[in-house]
Amino acid sequence: MASADNSLSGSGQLSTDMLVIGGGIMGLWGAVKAADAGFSVILIDAGEVGRGASGGLLGALFPWMPDRWDQKKQYQFDALVSLPDEIARLEHDTGLNANFRRAGRIVPLPKPHLREIALRHQRDAETNWHQGGYRFHWHVRDGEPEPAYIDPTACAAGYIHDTLAARVEPRALMAVLKTWLLRQPNVRIFEHASLERLDAGRGRAEIVAHPPLPCRASPPQGGRSDVAPAAQHTPPISPLEAEMSRSDRWGYSSEPSITTITFSHALIAAGAASFPILQSLMPPLPKPLGQGVKGQAALLKADLDPTLPVVFLDGVYVVPHEGGFAAIGSTSENQYDDPLSTDRQLDTLIENARALIPALRDAEVVERWAGIRPKAIGRDPLVGPVPGHANIIALTGGFKISFGMAHRLADSALDHLLGRSTAPLPENFTLSGQISREIPG
Ligand SMILES: Cc1cc2nc3c(=O)[nH]c(=O)nc-3n(C[C@H](O)[C@H](O)[C@H](O)COP(=O)(O)OP(=O)(O)OC[C@H]3O[C@@H](n4cnc5c(N)ncnc54)[C@H](O)[C@@H]3O)c2cc1C
Repeated sequence: MASADNSLSGSGQLSTDMLVIGGGIMGLWGAVKAADAGFSVILIDAGEVGRGASGGLLGALFPWMPDRWDQKKQYQFDALVSLPDEIARLEHDTGLNANFRRAGRIVPLPKPHLREIALRHQRDAETNWHQGGYRFHWHVRDGEPEPAYIDPTACAAGYIHDTLAARVEPRALMAVLKTWLLRQPNVRIFEHASLERLDAGRGRAEIVAHPPLPCRASPPQGGRSDVAPAAQHTPPISPLEAEMSRSDRWGYSSEPSITTITFSHALIAAGAASFPILQSLMPPLPKPLGQGVKGQAALLKADLDPTLPVVFLDGVYVVPHEGGFAAIGSTSENQYDDPLSTDRQLDTLIENARALIPALRDAEVVERWAGIRPKAIGRDPLVGPVPGHANIIALTGGFKISFGMAHRLADSALDHLLGRSTAPLPENFTLSGQISREIPG
């Protein structure tokens, strides 16, 4: 991935219109939209951009069910249909490819009663997925979707073919976003720079910048050999670190340095770490604003056509990607000791995927991966100004669906600052909406 820029002013203090805390899918889209709006932007990441939950393998872009249509489902529909154009603009500007494909989704129907439900949804999709010049389907079909793609016993009662679902390569999209941002004159990115303290009233953030590590870890052993640009190891010294090592003011020290950034507005997009940051700005709550949910996934070298639809059955995702790879996911773990390790649960998932997709039976596992999804108290994205601190804006809580919505959630996050209403938020996407629903009284 391109390396982060750094041009620290000699004033001893950095200042910006928009401070973005966290460089995952949420923070990167937030920074893109803020830069588009003409703000000066500083994005900081405690580690390396795109190495949190967003640096994973799957990239499935699934719509919610087409029944019981509401503002939430409309919001997600609008996000899913607008995403390819948004990505294409950045791809055009950077010359990179995020490998977005509206591949669709197959849901096998092993039992007749599932088919009855699916047929109802087929009718719902005819109404709700046919709007604004778009028409997507939720076909219920008999037999097998593609010859020899899916184990026939899984499709005993037919299968659903949804044509709205899509997929993107997460690390490739991270690379597109980061590269685009680095080319903007009004954006600076600092890696290994972690928010320690936020003074919302004075618009000040205390940042700890970690010094260069003497040596960086290699890519994971057994990892994918022809990885996307974002998956390749970034340069060993981040620009902020480089600046620290050459600046008279900073000098060089093996200890972390602390600096202050003053800002007009801050986007809190630190993934699961966003919840305690946001909560520290609010009156005490009887329960956490959100939590991290661990997920494990794997990448297999597989002889699968990359245009095939994504398959989903009983919690198992199989996502064909370009270049002869398939991603498999995902566990969902509320309790875990090590957030980044993989274990027997992933083995079981791989076994289930191999049973479902014959082409995976002997496929080599080239990467095992784990990450922490940000799940907000109300299980929906958590976006918009913090009550009592209009300059601090949440952009988190994407849980399992961030990749399909982050670009639009970033629009929503900025709407009130720009006095516009491009993407009105469903009530349950806001902090006040989720808190009042989940913590009555
Ligand atoms: C196994 C698995 C499979 C998944 N599959 C899909 C899928 O198919 N489709 C989909 O849409 N979603 C999927 N998800 C969910 C998706 O990956 C997440 O919802 C999304 O990546 C969250 O993005 P984020 O930007 O909020 O957080 P992150 O990507 O975690 O980014 C947060 C960033 O903030 C930084 N940070 C944290 N604390 C600080 C601090 N104090 N100061 C500065 N920076 C900080 C971190 O270093 C990190 O880079 C999956 C998740 C997992 C784990």
